[in-house]
Amino acid sequence: AELRELLLGRIRDVPDYPQPGVVFKDITPLLADPAAFGALVDALAALADRHGATKVVGLEARGFILAAPAAARAGIGFVPVRKAGKLPGKTLAQSYELEYGTAEIEVQTDAFAAGDRVLVIDDVLATGGTAEASLELIRRAGATVAGVAVLLELGFLGGRERLAPALDGAPLDTL
Ligand code: IMP
Repeated sequence: AELRELLLGRIRDVPDYPQPGVVFKDITPLLADPAAFGALVDALAALADRHGATKVVGLEARGFILAAPAAARAGIGFVPVRKAGKLPGKTLAQSYELEYGTAEIEVQTDAFAAGDRVLVIDDVLATGGTAEASLELIRRAGATVAGVAVLLELGFLGGRERLAPALDGAPLDTL
């Protein structure tokens, strides 16, 4: 409960960004506060431990900021899942539906070793489309999903419900 208050107190509402009518959750005040950011990274690393993760995936771009230090803190590797066209070498791609149009994310084909268990980290769970596509991609790349962890969940968008089938029993933790 204390962690929750610390984190919520450092997230700023920005009305009409990136479009009119949308209230954007801005996490930059949290990142700029070493006590809050440190507590968040520690909590994410503890989740990686608890769920027996052997790799942490970060979702571009704000997911990278949280996932990379959490992986280092947990003593396991970090794997980037990026928007299409950004990763060198052989990649696997996964398309998914957006409100308007489609998006595509990629991971390198050699990102995971046999038996890897992956914790996926992002800043915000909104509709759940991005996280859902990442779970599909991770399984196609040969790894097991250990869980999904996000800083913030926009409950009114129903992301948790959308993500449930893809989680297939794995935990979704919101800090
Ligand atoms: P979803 O695919 O609809 O769940 O959208 C999640 C993605 O959009 C995440 O990668 C978030 O970084 C980003 N996102 C959506 N809404 C917000 C917000 O209010 N603040 C920050 N990121 C957001």
